[in-house]
Amino acid sequence: MPYRYQCAQCHADADKRDRRDDAEADGQQHRDEAHHGLLPTAGDRVAKVHADGRGDRAAGVPWPRSSLLLLAGFALLVLFEMAR
Ligand SMILES: [Zn+2]
Repeated sequence: MPYRYQCAQCHADADKRDRRDDAEADGQQHRDEAHHGLLPTAGDRVAKVHADGRGDRAAGVPWPRSSLLLLAGFALLVLFEMAR
């Protein structure tokens, strides 16, 4: 399964790489060029990504916080309505 460097600060995804080392090298290059060699404050990572298919979402990527809050709010609303 290929790897991809992702910078949360720049909302940037590097190209897929077959080897994790290559994706980490992309990350170091990005940090050097875009963040003066420092870690992005919003974080970055090398993620496993699917080899093909249009959904390139990595298996380990968590849901965005806004989606989770929306889901939790909806669940609470349903529970509240059921209790009435
Ligand atoms: Zn960045």
